[in-house]
Amino acid sequence: MIDLRSDTVTRPTAGMLAAMAAAPVGDDVYAEDPTVNALEARVAAMFGHEAALFCTTGSLANLLGVWCLVQPGQELVCDVRAHVVRAEMGAHAALHGITTRTWDSANGVTDTATIAGLITPDAGPYLVSTAAVALENTHNFGGGTVQPYEHLVEVSALCRDAGIGLHLDGARLWNAHVATGVPLADYGRLFDTVNVCFSKGLGAPIGSMLVSSAAHIARTRVQRKRLGSGWRQAGVLAAAADYALDHHLPRLGEDHAAAAAFAAEVVAQAPDALSLASVVTNIVVFDTGERTAVDVVAAAARAGVALSAVGPRQARAVTHQDVTVEEAQTAGRLVGAVLAGVPAQ
Ligand SMILES: *Cc1c(COP(=O)(O)O)cnc(C)c1O
Repeated sequence: MIDLRSDTVTRPTAGMLAAMAAAPVGDDVYAEDPTVNALEARVAAMFGHEAALFCTTGSLANLLGVWCLVQPGQELVCDVRAHVVRAEMGAHAALHGITTRTWDSANGVTDTATIAGLITPDAGPYLVSTAAVALENTHNFGGGTVQPYEHLVEVSALCRDAGIGLHLDGARLWNAHVATGVPLADYGRLFDTVNVCFSKGLGAPIGSMLVSSAAHIARTRVQRKRLGSGWRQAGVLAAAADYALDHHLPRLGEDHAAAAAFAAEVVAQAPDALSLASVVTNIVVFDTGERTAVDVVAAAARAGVALSAVGPRQARAVTHQDVTVEEAQTAGRLVGAVLAGVPAQ
């Protein structure tokens, strides 16, 4: 089975496991794990921020980042397909009393005027006040879309002028950075809070980082413990993330090439499934035409390719370091045949 369900399915490499085994550790609830402390300092510096908090998941880092910016009863504004509203099980509302309003978009990217038209800071006693905007880069359900850097600059200025916060769900910001060459610190300076994940394309088994000001991070350290996610010798996991930054970040371009190879094979047999121009990182979202996504995902699995259904008629393939460009190409050929309704050649 060629597993393209997600880039979360990777296993730690021998080099990563060796780094984990060799890590000096301590109790992180006492802030005494040297490997965690070093990783937090390293990642905060990469994004030009004061501090960072190592978290179990990207969902937790998003939950804590948004919690810094939005009070109970206020709203967060974001894309209709954003992970924060689609895939975090309502946590922002269920745990922190935060409401959301969304804009629609074709692929996770909108224009600044649309956001400006939605936000209502200090709305008074009749309407919900907007406290923050969240952007996602790359955009997962949008198809691995990269937000144009100029758009991010505009939204950052809009939010600062309006006196509201700006959160970045950068689970795959590494991929956007590799695809565009925009330095990580240039992304970091536009946002109040940033989540980045080590457990996606970087191939670590666990771990995400919330990056922000020292004051915000000090508060989130308390809230993380309150949510039951204080952890002890987490340095074994920080070592995996640190190893991933050194050894796996530089190879993400290979995953982008594999996604392009997959998509080219799909389009060769099913030209209406997607536009090749939409494939810019390691995610390929494509239309399943007359058939439901669930049906196509099941047929692809029988042919030896594991995909995800992400909409009624949209399926997703994600490339990662455990799949070669050749395997991605083979998978594309098999999925193309499924979509065209012909036996694979
Ligand atoms: C994976 C992902 C997250 C975090 O997911 P966890 O499974 O909680 O680590 C957040 N945002 C986006 C866009 C993601 O793809």
